[in-house]
Order: sequence, then structure tokens, then C-alpha cells
Amino acid sequence: MGRLRAAAAGIGRRPQPGTGPAKQSSGRCREMAVPQRGASCPAPVQPSAFHLFVDAAEIEAFRTSLLAWYDRCKRDLPWRRLAVSEPDVDKRAYSVWVSEVMLQQTQVATVMDYYTRWMQKWPTLQALADASLEEVNALWAGLGYYSRGKRLQEGARKVVSELAGRMPRTAEELQKLLPGVGRYTAGAIASISYGQATGVVDGNVTRVLCRLRCLGADASSPPVTEHLWGLAHALVDRARPGDFNQALMELGATVCSPKSPLCTECPVRPHCWAQRRVEKELEVASRRLLGKAPSSCPPGPDIEECAAGALGSCPLCPPASEPWDGSLGVANFPRKAAKKQPRAERTATCVLERSGRCGEPEFLLVQRPGSGLLAGLWEFPSLLVAPGLKEKQQREALAGHVQAQTGTAIAAGRLWHVGEVVHVFSHIHQTYVVYSLLLDGPGAVAPVKREEEPELPASRWVTKADFQAAAVSTAMKKVLKACERQSHEEKRPRMVSKRKRGAALEDAPRPPGQVKAETAADGSLARGQLSLHTFLKAK
Ligand code: SF4
Ligand code: ZN
Repeated sequence: MGRLRAAAAGIGRRPQPGTGPAKQSSGRCREMAVPQRGASCPAPVQPSAFHLFVDAAEIEAFRTSLLAWYDRCKRDLPWRRLAVSEPDVDKRAYSVWVSEVMLQQTQVATVMDYYTRWMQKWPTLQALADASLEEVNALWAGLGYYSRGKRLQEGARKVVSELAGRMPRTAEELQKLLPGVGRYTAGAIASISYGQATGVVDGNVTRVLCRLRCLGADASSPPVTEHLWGLAHALVDRARPGDFNQALMELGATVCSPKSPLCTECPVRPHCWAQRRVEKELEVASRRLLGKAPSSCPPGPDIEECAAGALGSCPLCPPASEPWDGSLGVANFPRKAAKKQPRAERTATCVLERSGRCGEPEFLLVQRPGSGLLAGLWEFPSLLVAPGLKEKQQREALAGHVQAQTGTAIAAGRLWHVGEVVHVFSHIHQTYVVYSLLLDGPGAVAPVKREEEPELPASRWVTKADFQAAAVSTAMKKVLKACERQSHEEKRPRMVSKRKRGAALEDAPRPPGQVKAETAADGSLARGQLSLHTFLKAK
């Protein structure tokens, strides 16, 4: 479907499954005939008309232009191919469902590979229902928002066990019966798979519609949200609803982008009031430059402005405190609510390494709880630490936690401070304070009695290859990379000069787990100084 998902690019995000009001929008979205446009400047009209598509002929022209553009320019994507070629309606709906869930919050380029592997592994609802959550999490690893995969599988199991393998056949039923299927996903599945004439609103559609009809109030506010759904239902092509919805989303992803919209290439430009507004502003500015009096009737639509908006009482217009910004052009729309800052958290995490069979390194992973953030995924033993905790206390707390989780006695002084890794989740700015510990070697840790800790989480030792294939988060992959980078850097001074090897080894940092307690307590700064010192000495 060619929709970019919000994340880093700042593109509007699709709603998460299950969010948004369940009811259909009001009759506001009906196609209505309006008087023909006149040559003279009309009086301002009511806000409902200003922000609506009220001309049946215009709606028809809009659909025709958009679909013609889509037929010419649409991207070739695997889920689009399946939606067209799959004759089995349940399989078709399932394939659309998978793509829609994966595309929430994730860019098309990232999803393509995941989607292909998923459909190869689980081509039917039955196949997905039979899979284990572990397998689902493993395939989903790296795609983010891990609960999506879990919910998708729960939905497949429900269809198989309670609905005799038959997907619900309308948007309303899809939303009602399937866990994790919200208003957007239901509309997308129903319109693309079954041809139900129902609109959809995701981040891209929101942006396009807000610009088309100058919706400048906070796009996530209830009046704007309902209005957008009303517009989407009114505009959707009755004969080709699936294509129309995909076309609108494609337009938002490829032409009507957040910061640099390609208005000159836009197939629906004649219907865009944000664009008219820009033209009007330019015309006024150039007249002023030429010393001419402002035109009494500048070019643009006959509906010039929202009457209620001019009075400051329209729930769809920009607030008076946020006037038109000429430097933004059409990007004055949509307005976003001030973004809530993600809360900051610190987590101490320990990469526990041992020498496995044939000397291959192995790492200890423990499983996260079955609910909450990153539910059921595997991670290095980790502990959320209170802000302001001193490094020594942090290290001691982590050592105690690792001991409790693994049943292995850990001396805090043996933890090697690797550094910090930052990973931003949707609502959490997480800093992982990374430590490592090599279990083999001098002074290896002594085991403690496991029966003293009966509530230990599931844990296992994995090789690096197993780790990469396991259901671990991207954050944990970053953590391991930081460890590898660190041990690579620590080795480098020793390779600087054979002639000076003796001198270099004198102060060379010890491998993880063999660091002197006083050095470890000083953290990465102390090691950085030591490495530099060693390096200079070697030189
Ligand atoms: Fe978006 Fe520009 Fe097209 Fe309007 S004319 S819909 S702002 S790309
Ligand atoms: Zn208004």
C-alpha cells in the first residue's frame, strides 16, 4: 500500500489497533449538491460546508483523478499482488490483515521483507494459529511494537477456533470480533479484500484530507477525527473502494509528504484548499510588491474561508493563537498536538558470557514477563534502576538481580562497565547501562543453591547465531554490539606494536570479568583513560 509509517520521518501514524471510536461517523459526510460557483466573491459560508466536499460533481472528479493517478503510479508491493491474485477470500483477507498490522508504525521498505517471510512461513490463518508465540516473536524481532504480532496470532486463533476459519465479512464485524483490529484495520481489510465501500483514516490520509479542506485544529482532537472519518466515507469510490483507499494513502506517502509535498505533481491539486490558500497568499504578496491595491476578489475557490473560523469558534480551524505561517505553505496543515515527551528510564543490563562447546562464546538470556513492554521477548538480565542511583549502587543492584535471576553468585566488582546504549521506544527514552561479565577464567563465580530462588524466569544460553535468530528486541542487539565494539577497542592497543607489546601489556585492560575492582568502579571514563594511556605508551 505504499504508506510510509510515522516514526522517524515524522509522517503521520496510523492508529494503533483498537483505538478510535467504534461508531460510524455522522451524516455530515453525505454527498450534497451545492449551488454553482459564481463569478463574484461569495459571502463566507458555514464551517460545515467549508470543511466538506459538498459538490457531487467535484467528488466524482476527485475520485476519477485519484484513481487514474494510482493506476499509473502505484508501487508494486507484495501485499498488493496477493490482494489481487488470491482467489480465496479468507486467505485474501488474512494477507491484507497481516500487511496492515505490520505497516502500523513501520515504513514500507522495512515491512516488505518481514511480510514476505511471514507469508511464506504462515500462508494461512490455520498455519499462524498453529505456530508458537516464540516463533511469532522471533520472526517479528526488529519490527518493533511486539504486541502486534502476538495480537495477530490471537486473532488468527480466534478465527480458526471460534469462527470456523471464516474471516468476518464487514468492517463492523471485523472490528467487533477480532482482537487488536481497530477502526482503521477493519476498514482496510473490508475495502481491500471484500470491496466494502468504507473509508479509512491513517496518518497519511489525515494529512491529505487536512490539506484538502484546511483542517487546522489539532488532528487528534475528537471533532477533527470524526470529521476526517466522515470525509473518508464520503469520498471513497463506490466501485473501487480498496483501490481508492490505497490511492489516498499512497498519495500521502509519496506526494503529499509532511514537509516537502510535491503539489505540482498532485493529481488532486484542483481540489486542494491549502494549495489555494498558498496561491492566494502569493498573489496578495506580489500585488503588494508591485504597489498595487489588493485584489477585491483574489483567485481561489468560491468558498474563501470558514465563517465560524473567522469568528474563532470553529472546532476544525486553526486556533487564533496559531495564525497562518507563510514559510510553511500547505504544511500549515495538519496541526499536531504538542508531542508528549517520552519518559526517561535507565536500565542496568548484564551481558553474561561463557565459553560454550568448542570454545564458542555463549550468552545468557532470560525471558521477559508475558505482558507489558516487550512481552515474552528474551533479553540479557536487566534491571530498571532508580534515577540518580550512583554507579556503585547500580552495579551492586544489578549483581544482586543477576544472582537472583540466574542462581549464580555474582560479585559486583567483577561487572565490567561497557558503556551506555540508548533506545527510544514510542513512549520511553530508555538508556541501557551495559555491563558484561565473562564467567570463565580466574575466579569464576560460584553457584548458589537454585532452590533458594524458586521464582526464576525462564533462561537459556545461546550462541551469537542463536541470539540473532531469537525473539530479542533491537535494543538488546544494540547492547550486544556495544559489548563487541568495546572488547574490540580494548584489544586494539595490544595490536599496535609488536615491539612495544611488553609495555602495552603492562597496563592493558583486562578482558571483561577480569577487570580490577577499582578500575571497574570508575566506569567507562576510567577505562577510556587507561586505553588511551596504553595506546600512547605503545606508540
Ligand atoms: Fe497535498 Fe499539495 Fe496535493 Fe494539496 S496539492 S493534496 S497539499 S500534494
Ligand atoms: Zn472552520
